Amino acid sequence: MARGLPKQKPIAGVKEVIVVASGKGGVGKSTTAVNLALGLMANDQSKSVGLLDADVYGPSIPKLMNLKGNPELTDKNLMRPLVNFRIPCMSMGFLVEEVAPIVWRGLMVMSAIEKLIRQSKKIIQFAQHCCSFHYHNDFFHAGRLGNLDYLVIDMPPGTGDVQLSITQNIPIAGAVIVSTPQDIALLDARRGAEMFRKVNVPVLGLVQNMSVFQCPKCNHQTHIFGSDGAKELAQTLGVELLGDIPLHLNIRETSDKGQPVVVSFPESPEAEAYRRVAAAV
Ligand code: ADP
Repeated sequence: MARGLPKQKPIAGVKEVIVVASGKGGVGKSTTAVNLALGLMANDQSKSVGLLDADVYGPSIPKLMNLKGNPELTDKNLMRPLVNFRIPCMSMGFLVEEVAPIVWRGLMVMSAIEKLIRQSKKIIQFAQHCCSFHYHNDFFHAGRLGNLDYLVIDMPPGTGDVQLSITQNIPIAGAVIVSTPQDIALLDARRGAEMFRKVNVPVLGLVQNMSVFQCPKCNHQTHIFGSDGAKELAQTLGVELLGDIPLHLNIRETSDKGQPVVVSFPESPEAEAYRRVAAAV
């Protein structure tokens, strides 16, 4: 660990933490995080995988994993993760109304994430203390994700306080960076990769998302956002290109339905592309 960094504290019961990050929003980070988690399990059914939604400002995991409602409490007053497709999930989205804005500063967000992953302190008291937080009731406590081989963390986009705090507080096996092949996304993806390097988190590689669109009628292929941008950035950074995910209606539709493509169309080339990413991390 670099000198001067705060001491990292492992998450109880979790063997490896993989963060999925992006420089910008909207490039497919959450979709990749979900399908990566499912891909890890599809590649080896004996592995247990969990998902933590650290994108507390715009939590997408509840929708992508088709999860709703109030987590229950264990007899030790820990919040039980909600589970779908055998993946336990924790998300701020379980604690706030779907349309409620979350107006927090970086340190508050980190504190909330800490409470989502570690032992019981009343998250709701914390939230009431910090801000105008919309909540269902005063029922929630912080939770534990249980014993996991992999915890996939869907990071917030960018390289702000929250990203830094997570990387400094939790030991991370590696980061997967998602980008479209567009110059503007790649610039930010590069910043993300440099941030991880600065805090000594290994960059496992890049995922190039939405690189090619194939017309379902005539099969013509179009590189809407460019073709090889992330591939070239991976070379520049000296990291692997973990996968190339096409821009595909199946991915968008299954995500919107909360039935990710890896589980709903396991035979499709899109699902295969995500499983290859999972095999490469
Ligand atoms: P981010 O987490 O980077 O903000 P999301 O994963 O939420 O991005 O994706 C943004 C939108 O793009 C969503 O509507 C999602 O369904 C869609 N999307 C992501 N990847 C693909 C893809 N490869 N093909 C088609 N749609 C995609």
